[in-house]
Amino acid sequence: EARAALATWSGPGRTAEGTPVKILANVADGESARTSAQAPVEGVGLFRTELCFLNRKEEPSVEEQAEIYGEVLAAFSGDKQYVVVRTLDAGSDKPVAFATHEGEENPALGVRGLRLSFSNPALLDRQLDGIAAAAQQTGTETWVMAPMVATVAEAEEFATKVRARGLKAGVMVEVPSAALLAHRMLEVVDFLSIGTNDLTQYTMAADRMATDLAHLTDPWQPAVLQLIAITAEAGRQAGKPVGVCGEAAADPLLACALVGMGITSLSMAAAAVRPVGARLATVGMQACEDAAEAALAASDPMAARAAVLEVLGG
Ligand code: PEP
Ligand code: MG
Repeated sequence: EARAALATWSGPGRTAEGTPVKILANVADGESARTSAQAPVEGVGLFRTELCFLNRKEEPSVEEQAEIYGEVLAAFSGDKQYVVVRTLDAGSDKPVAFATHEGEENPALGVRGLRLSFSNPALLDRQLDGIAAAAQQTGTETWVMAPMVATVAEAEEFATKVRARGLKAGVMVEVPSAALLAHRMLEVVDFLSIGTNDLTQYTMAADRMATDLAHLTDPWQPAVLQLIAITAEAGRQAGKPVGVCGEAAADPLLACALVGMGITSLSMAAAAVRPVGARLATVGMQACEDAAEAALAASDPMAARAAVLEVLGG
């Protein structure tokens, strides 16, 4: 059944009985956005803006930023489409010359992501101006989220700046503190997006780039699944969208379990869109919930995967 669905599914994202689940693309620039727009997605769930600037020495002007962001937004200007733009996640594995703090002992735990705006708020202000201008020029529905948020106060301050520009504001959940406080985060923002790559790294205290720690940097780890479930449940209770935009969303089996936890959107590389969308379309919401329960009850990643496979069938 899953194989037949792969041949025929063409979006939009939904479970077998038709409950909508947004299937979105992760993009890096205008080119990848245009490619992703060919896939059956309803928009972009993660535009990693820092990837536009990896080879830049100087910060682009607001006008130039607006042009760069506008290329992505223009690829998704359809009626029911939207784009989630992430503000600069510079630092650690993604150094940006004009933003990254030099000489940190432990850059993954240092001044990265939203933290850059603590000492340099104008950098964030200019980026938000560029995003707002691009949104205005293209007419694309634009949501904006911050990476590496650890406290509710950070989320609130960010949301104030974003809403002042007429855009929807959210934060990424990639630090365990944000997952544990998801219900309070949702009192101050419009949506959450779980970055499972970093959430796993920080929950397991295991470098996401360390290949010999791959057994720990696995989103099927029970502690990671618990944090995702807490975040998704907070979204259900608040009636606000909670998506997943890390690698976990690209795993068709795990994606079904995530939907069963209450996740409302899945964002992934374009190549994963059809396998995930097709699989989800064969699974009812009750089976997704059973899969979630089975995954959460398992004692390790291998058992969790096996339990979900058992519920959903091969
Ligand atoms: C994540 O951490 O899961 C995420 C989506 O962000 P990035 O991979 O860009 O750090
Ligand atoms: Mg991340």
